[in-house]
Amino acid sequence: MTDHKRDSHATTIGEKTLRPESLMMSYGYRPELSQGAVKCPIFQTSTFVFKSAEAGKAFFEIAYGLRKQDPHEELGLIYSRLNNPDLEILEDRLTLWDGAEKSAVFESGMSAISTTFWTFLRPGDIVLHSEPVYGGTDYLLKRILPQFGIRAVGFSARTSQQSLEKLLEDREIRGKTAMIFVETPANPTNDLVDIAACVHAAQKMSSGGRRVLVAVDNTFLGPLWQQPLTLGADLVLYSATKYIGGHSDLIAGVCLGSAELVGQVKGMRTILGTMASPWTGWLLLRSLETMKMRMTAQMKTARYVADFLADHPKVERVYYLGHLRPEHPHYAIYRRQCSAPGGMIAFDIVGGEAEAFRFLNNLQLFRLAVSLGGTESLAEHPAAMTHSDVDPEERQEMGITDKMVRLSIGVEHPEDLIADLEQALAAL
Ligand SMILES: *Cc1c(COP(=O)(O)O)cnc(C)c1O
Repeated sequence: MTDHKRDSHATTIGEKTLRPESLMMSYGYRPELSQGAVKCPIFQTSTFVFKSAEAGKAFFEIAYGLRKQDPHEELGLIYSRLNNPDLEILEDRLTLWDGAEKSAVFESGMSAISTTFWTFLRPGDIVLHSEPVYGGTDYLLKRILPQFGIRAVGFSARTSQQSLEKLLEDREIRGKTAMIFVETPANPTNDLVDIAACVHAAQKMSSGGRRVLVAVDNTFLGPLWQQPLTLGADLVLYSATKYIGGHSDLIAGVCLGSAELVGQVKGMRTILGTMASPWTGWLLLRSLETMKMRMTAQMKTARYVADFLADHPKVERVYYLGHLRPEHPHYAIYRRQCSAPGGMIAFDIVGGEAEAFRFLNNLQLFRLAVSLGGTESLAEHPAAMTHSDVDPEERQEMGITDKMVRLSIGVEHPEDLIADLEQALAAL
């Protein structure tokens, strides 16, 4: 069968269902619409020409929800704030990894999170959230949302089940919560929040016409090692800047879920204008082709690095999912909701800020930078960098101390990374 006759959305060969990595080079793209180019071109255009005034009218009717789309009617392209081929193909491919009906891509992780909040939260609502969360999300929850009459109530990721149960005893929380937002594993401590327990709590709080949504920021392990939708979550959010982009050369975000919920998010995105550009969309299509290879290599290398650190006399403690033992309270959660430990490691160095800084300044192959999930290994100091605006007392409670260093493992040879860590620790 020649390529142009194969359905661009086929996911099987005969009876066999193809894996997502096998579909990342072709799914959703029709070469015959682009001169036969094997790669989807960059559709660097703001607007699209209608074949006729009637066609333009029909596209708008559907895009603005004025009538339902007929089963065989193709939705045409209108304007790149609403739709664009690079974004639509990317969104189709992203759904395969998380088992989502639909996805929406954004120009940053923060725009994915904020647009989702603006879609589902209203004045008077409460949003319950795990703690710690990413710094930008923390600011949005605690400083921005209250200005719009939305209250954020945090619960500790370390003791999520007990803290959630306690919150549910509060009548106001039961009556006004519109969303449970969780980030798991928590950054940088790798604490795990039980997603299924959050789904259960949301069901308990939902009543009549009011449905409490569970949204999970899946940036650290997804989409390869954790699929929150399969655990009952309603929405999955990403900073695609990290593992999905994977090359530290773009900023982007994603929201995935049911057609109904993501449709609402896309409606808000159209008006806020927070969609990704065609160029960002194209870069992400490039990235998705190697995502599984990259994330697998990073995950395997991280284990060598974590084992090396755990045995080192100048390392006090390592926070790494692959080292959880059955007696740890998060072990059962790990087994239920993660399929591998991923590529993020934090550790406490023997000493304090001075020792941590000397170590960071001594690194030669690891780059001293925030962000994560790229091909190059990165090291940073959470207390002084990514988490410096968290209240110092809260920071201490979360375990983010002056002796903590965070590593994001890249695709370098594990022995070269270990050699770099060894010399940087030896110089202390
Ligand atoms: C980086 C990050 C964000 C924010 O994403 P941007 O792409 O920087 O806007 C949100 N959540 C997590 C867990 C992150 O690591």
